[in-house]
Amino acid sequence: MALSQEVRPPSENYRPRSRWDVIVIGCGIMGAAASYNIATKGLRVLNIERFGVNHEHGSSHGRTRIFRTAYYEDPRYVPLLRRALEAWKEVELKSGKTLLKMTGGLMIGRPDGELVAGTLKAARIHGIPYELMTASEAEGRFGAFRLEEGLAAVHEQGAGVLLAEECVRAFVGLGSESGCEYRFSEEVRGWKARTQGVEVETQFGTQSADRLVFCAGAWSGPLLKGVVPLQVERQVPLWFSSGGEEKFTPQEMPVFVAEEGDGVFYYGIPDLGHGVKVARHHGGKVGEPDKVTREVTEEDIAPVRSFASRRLKGLDGPPISSTTCLYTNTPDFNFAVGPHPDDHRVSVVSGGSGHGFKFASVLGEVVSSLVSGEKLDYDISFLSPARFGRRGPS
Ligand SMILES: Cc1cc2nc3c(=O)[nH]c(=O)nc-3n(C[C@H](O)[C@H](O)[C@H](O)COP(=O)(O)OP(=O)(O)OC[C@H]3O[C@@H](n4cnc5c(N)ncnc54)[C@H](O)[C@@H]3O)c2cc1C
Repeated sequence: MALSQEVRPPSENYRPRSRWDVIVIGCGIMGAAASYNIATKGLRVLNIERFGVNHEHGSSHGRTRIFRTAYYEDPRYVPLLRRALEAWKEVELKSGKTLLKMTGGLMIGRPDGELVAGTLKAARIHGIPYELMTASEAEGRFGAFRLEEGLAAVHEQGAGVLLAEECVRAFVGLGSESGCEYRFSEEVRGWKARTQGVEVETQFGTQSADRLVFCAGAWSGPLLKGVVPLQVERQVPLWFSSGGEEKFTPQEMPVFVAEEGDGVFYYGIPDLGHGVKVARHHGGKVGEPDKVTREVTEEDIAPVRSFASRRLKGLDGPPISSTTCLYTNTPDFNFAVGPHPDDHRVSVVSGGSGHGFKFASVLGEVVSSLVSGEKLDYDISFLSPARFGRRGPS
């Protein structure tokens, strides 16, 4: 697929200012959200991004992301998610863009499986409204699905779809209005902590700041010198033709996650104009971000196509489009968010582990509090980059 727009080289008049309050590395969704939120504190922010806005090498492209609150992964995420939802709505209002379409969400699997049991646990602990359905009840209500007896489905009204590229653009637009400076096509090649602050080396020279924020996604591992153990995993979302059928529209079909009998997870998003999105969650090849195969093969397509035709009525054809995207996994699949273990002037927002996008609106606020030395409104100790017990070379 062709790369996105806006990969702009610095102009001929490029005369870098070299001292900032905060430098943010990376302008995927995390860096875009962090830069905007930090700039709103009145701090001078430089965002350095090696490609452009909404490029297709990283983790934040591919049109859409699922938002949900009854979090099977871990109920400790729920307070963050509640604020994330409010914050997305505020960004919508400020930017004048539609970013989130509420469709409801359906979590499908064995009643005692990780997905259904975990969703129910999070919903009950936090008083999130939900409906537990049998397979035939869910099929009767949502015509898109084919579910055999014995499966259960938890419906959460407050789930939906984030328009991924619009979200990044909204943050960059608001960040520019708030005084944040963006440098695209500029690559951070190294950084050093100094007594007076931090220094960042790019192909154009040295920039320094009081504080540094790492939002480098799949490229974070080497930049962080192994402090956070990260594994980069290739993923291949596919889009299938809905044939224009009503049952696949966002009015009729909720976003869904399904835990299949073999423990493999798939997810899907209704047709917002480009087809029904279906993908396998995890199970991709692990490798280096710049060496990932971008070609989509029959090996990528076959299991997802088989899942789609099994679970979604009439979704039997070949995919009509595809992309490749990267998960950046921590060993426990929880994010790495918080101060760098060796230097509290440096913050880390990484390790999205395939579920980070929906949190960007609140994590941007969290990191702006971190760099401003404000008390956090949430317990993020379970996300601490220091939990892996590694320290960088001194
Ligand atoms: C297929 C797929 C589906 C997903 N589905 C969901 C979902 O439904 N819901 C959900 O909540 N999450 C989902 N996620 C996860 C979510 O999208 C990611 O957690 C999130 O996008 C990560 O954002 P990021 O900003 O950390 O990374 P990125 O978007 O990759 O941004 C990192 C940026 O840093 C830049 N960079 C790196 N190194 C340097 C350097 N040295 N100098 C300058 N710039 C640098 C890169 O160019 C890149 O732009 C999904 C992810 C994928 C891949």
